[in-house]
Amino acid sequence: FIDRIDRVDDETIEVIDYKTNRQIFTRDEVEHSLQLSLYHVAVQRMWPWAKNVRLTFHMLRHGLRLRTERTPEQLEAALRYVETMGRMTEEATEFPARLNSNCVWCDHRQQCPAYAAALKGQRDFICEDTADLEAVAREREEVARLAKLLYARKSELEGVLKTHLAEQDELVLAGVRYRMFNVTKVEHPLARTVQVLADATGMDRDQIVERIATVDGKALDRLLKEAGKTLDRSRVALLKAELDATAEKSFSPRFWAKEVAA
Ligand code: SF4
Repeated sequence: FIDRIDRVDDETIEVIDYKTNRQIFTRDEVEHSLQLSLYHVAVQRMWPWAKNVRLTFHMLRHGLRLRTERTPEQLEAALRYVETMGRMTEEATEFPARLNSNCVWCDHRQQCPAYAAALKGQRDFICEDTADLEAVAREREEVARLAKLLYARKSELEGVLKTHLAEQDELVLAGVRYRMFNVTKVEHPLARTVQVLADATGMDRDQIVERIATVDGKALDRLLKEAGKTLDRSRVALLKAELDATAEKSFSPRFWAKEVAA
């Protein structure tokens, strides 16, 4: 399904696909997305009057729209690729299951032997020499795939137990006691907290704010979005840049891995 289609004007349609990915797509990924190419083809066939088709990935976590377009040659290449894949699928006589990061959403997983073996923790490859980086990476990817599948299965099983815990306080099963409990989240309202502290300590209110307050990034984003309804877009962009410039940034290394095309 296409997430959203906007008629921009009498000649232009914009297709928007919402993404919840943590990592922002690279320009290369946007330019070569087969998904967006096929959306363009679909739009052309459904609304032939559209002379311009804008293709957009909306990265929800980052509030970012990555726009692209396709040339007739790119569309032709995408169609040829899909036709070739279709032909190969029709002609193939064997379809070996390949565990991948999308297995947890696969409709066939309950019937898939590879998935069943993965749930049992079956491993194919163990790296015996960590000086062999190719082997290290190979095992790391296998473990990462399994971890994802097992984590999804754990959530599925917990869902079943939670349903029963909605009707009873406690379950004791397979030697384990299960209960639900409430986690308390304490949030101090800023103005009232500052007032109480200032009255009790005689400290200056600005000093207190400086010492205890930080701005909630998500709340700030929401506020800027709201401001965007009344303020000029360029004014909001400027405001955001101004706020970003005063923000304190810290960096921590993150491990990143993504499959490359063969
Ligand atoms: S669960 Fe099995 S059939 Fe489904 S995507 Fe994974 S390997 Fe393929």
